[in-house]
Amino acid sequence: MKKPFAKRSLGQNFLSDPNYVNKIISALDPASGETIIEIGPGRGALTERLAESGANIIAIELDRDLVPLLREKFHGNKNIHIVEADVLETDIAELLDDPKFKILNFRSERPGPRTAKLVANLPYYISTAILQKLAGQRHLFSELVLMFQREVVERITAEPGSSERGFLTVLAEAAFEIERLTDVPPTAFRPQPKIWSSVVRLRPKPVSGIDEAAFMRLVSTGFNQKRKTILNNLKALYPNVSEMLETAGIDPKRRAETLTIEEWISLLGRDIEDK
Ligand code: SAM
Repeated sequence: MKKPFAKRSLGQNFLSDPNYVNKIISALDPASGETIIEIGPGRGALTERLAESGANIIAIELDRDLVPLLREKFHGNKNIHIVEADVLETDIAELLDDPKFKILNFRSERPGPRTAKLVANLPYYISTAILQKLAGQRHLFSELVLMFQREVVERITAEPGSSERGFLTVLAEAAFEIERLTDVPPTAFRPQPKIWSSVVRLRPKPVSGIDEAAFMRLVSTGFNQKRKTILNNLKALYPNVSEMLETAGIDPKRRAETLTIEEWISLLGRDIEDK
């Protein structure tokens, strides 16, 4: 089957350097019997290597021109399931529960961890939206190995006080332990992107008792105008903001980018208690 042209509109930069394929696969360490979700398999550079492990793979690809190519490539391999779908519209929990994939170790009656792994060389135009979605579904995963554009990785790993720190940093930090693994040059892809990429490993943090929707509202309001103080940003949403900050021991003149994850969580605690 003839390979369709790469579509820029779908963020198609295919990994062509085997060294980086190896690095991603060894970071994920797929094993027989595990369940692995791949987002955007493309032409199958990572999928092929995942398949060698004997893991059960569900690969979600949006491009209807690539799906037949992938199905042909992996024809006869019962462990690989190609799903034509938009990952942002996909309920991953439902997919993992779907009996047609015969995923024995997921939600089965057997004891042991009932989680999947996830790998993706992400389509960069929706990487933030995907990260947000995965944070909300992190209970499904034991770990995720993801490639982002390098600037996103710099943002999600930015320390308190750094001007790179923003809503996405706090969202990612609240949901995951983040380990930056390797940077990937444009020359590792066909066609070559203009920017560098980075691979990270995300280990989900337990889903705690906090109201995550309220937390996201608090953080996004806090970062609303980065040059303003935390007091000025938050007062739009919380009339009792001065009290909230005082009880959490946070100087109202600070800016959102200086707050640690613990301080954000303690602020939310104050809000809940005050209501
Ligand atoms: N994994 C392949 C590789 O490493 O060579 C391809 C990576 S390419 C950067 C991103 C892939 O995601 C493309 O195949 C693209 O068609 C697919 N994609 C784009 N948007 C998507 C979406 N919303 N849902 C699922 N796949 C998507």
